[in-house]
Amino acid sequence: MIRVAVAGAAGRMGTACREALAGADDLELVACIDRAPMADADSAPEAEAFDSVAEALVATHPDVFVDFTAPGSVEGNIRAALAAGVDCVVGTTGLSAATLEALEAEIPQGTCLFVAPNFAIGAVLLMQLAARAARWMPDVEIIELHHNQKKDAPSGTAIRTAELIVAARADAGVTPLGAPGAESEIGGYEGARGARAEDIPVHSIRLPGLVAHEEVIFGGPGQTLTLRHDSLDRVSFMPGVLAACRAVGQRSGLIVGLENLIEL
Ligand code: NAD
Repeated sequence: MIRVAVAGAAGRMGTACREALAGADDLELVACIDRAPMADADSAPEAEAFDSVAEALVATHPDVFVDFTAPGSVEGNIRAALAAGVDCVVGTTGLSAATLEALEAEIPQGTCLFVAPNFAIGAVLLMQLAARAARWMPDVEIIELHHNQKKDAPSGTAIRTAELIVAARADAGVTPLGAPGAESEIGGYEGARGARAEDIPVHSIRLPGLVAHEEVIFGGPGQTLTLRHDSLDRVSFMPGVLAACRAVGQRSGLIVGLENLIEL
């Protein structure tokens, strides 16, 4: 049995994790960590509740630490888990490349820090397909759409998609034709051309009713190609989270992206 502690357990993703773990025979939820009370404590699977990661690690000695908290909390949580030699499965977005590099230096021998910008298999496939398409159609823009409670923009998935596209373009030796950027925005409408992830325009939409969606639009002379993924429910992330909890025990060091942890 793999013992799992979940931070952010009272949140939207944490709640989905608790439910998914309850249905897995080989994974045991041993600690629910959150500053906020569990809204559905009565129906929650039995696991001790904690309001600090450090306290939970000492009391329950988990094999795996799962983090779905917030951009301002995740770095400290990971540090605490790594210091205790616990493998980490991190879904919280907002970790910069510089922070990941600093955390990598703190990973004890034999411990794994796994970070997934997106745990949904469909989104991982979309990123891979986008990288493939960019070799032939290097001009591209990204639209990412999320619910109106999301704390960071652009999404981690959009940033990762842009990184993969830029790497694929460099590998193929292709350059985009290009398009006007911020300099073309008319006064009073700054931001119309989106933010830049690498050199790719990213447009972030936040609306109630949405969960997590991404559209990658490629343009070439006389044609466009649109790739789109929709997470309609947070259950879409759970097979990836459970697979990561099962896999990190056999891996070590920093691993970013589900495609680098499990065979798709
Ligand atoms: P949420 O606001 O519903 O839940 C976050 C929870 O974390 C809250 O209950 C909050 O009280 C708790 N929390 C924050 N800091 C804490 C700390 N230091 N210690 C203990 N608890 C703490 O957010 P959510 O929608 O569940 O999303 C959580 C994170 O997961 C976000 O960064 C989001 O972008 C990310 N996310 C990732 C994926 C993925 O596939 N990688 C998918 C969806 C969401």
